[in-house]
Amino acid sequence: MPLDQTEAIILRSFSIGDQDKLVVFFSRDKGLLRGVAKGARKFGNRFGSSLEPLSLVNVFYYEKERKELVTVSQAELIESFFEMHGDYRTACTLSYFAELIEEFFPSRASEDIVFRLLLSTLRAIKEKGSLELLTRYFEAWFLQINGLLPDFRRCKTCRKLLAEAGWLSPRMDGVYCSNCAPLKKDAIPQELAAFLKWVKKNPPAQRTACPFSPGQIKAIGQTLQSLIIFHLEREPKSLHYLK
Ligand SMILES: [Zn+2]
Repeated sequence: MPLDQTEAIILRSFSIGDQDKLVVFFSRDKGLLRGVAKGARKFGNRFGSSLEPLSLVNVFYYEKERKELVTVSQAELIESFFEMHGDYRTACTLSYFAELIEEFFPSRASEDIVFRLLLSTLRAIKEKGSLELLTRYFEAWFLQINGLLPDFRRCKTCRKLLAEAGWLSPRMDGVYCSNCAPLKKDAIPQELAAFLKWVKKNPPAQRTACPFSPGQIKAIGQTLQSLIIFHLEREPKSLHYLK
């Protein structure tokens, strides 16, 4: 049983039995892993606060053949985001990010880009960036990385550039212009394409004024969340609380 080590963000941890914790962590080079931290519930245990949700840690663990769960032997805290959990909306947002990562990624698939997206978004929230804007930022990039973001610039049928608001296709794989939309059900905000372009150009900690109004950000969120709900085939639990 060789000891492995990886840089990871704790997505969640919960008690199992009287003494142990089950830890779900997203590692930079090995993707999503689940493991048991033995004795993590005991008073004065060696894990300290390193297993709190969204802590950035160095995890040391053992893998057993044909076992899905690894054994976490140690976790060294690199950076804590614990104080952010004091605010209810922020705490719900952080759970939402963690839930999306856990639901959309199969275990053991390395996803360095998502790791960097999560870490940079967490740091921007910690530095008191706008929570609404950063949530849209995370959603947009998350959908993009997963290949779930349709082309919002052109009509799926006639290929014309959309000059005004369009409609999402029922399978959420494109948008229709006013002439082609078979049923005008899910309208997409006119600013969405410009927002996605802005997101791609600006890091999350961008301090310059956001060129979109709170109302526009909210409307953009509705479309991005429709895509997430469609592909997940349910509403994320944490999103329900966030609303
Ligand atoms: Zn069209």
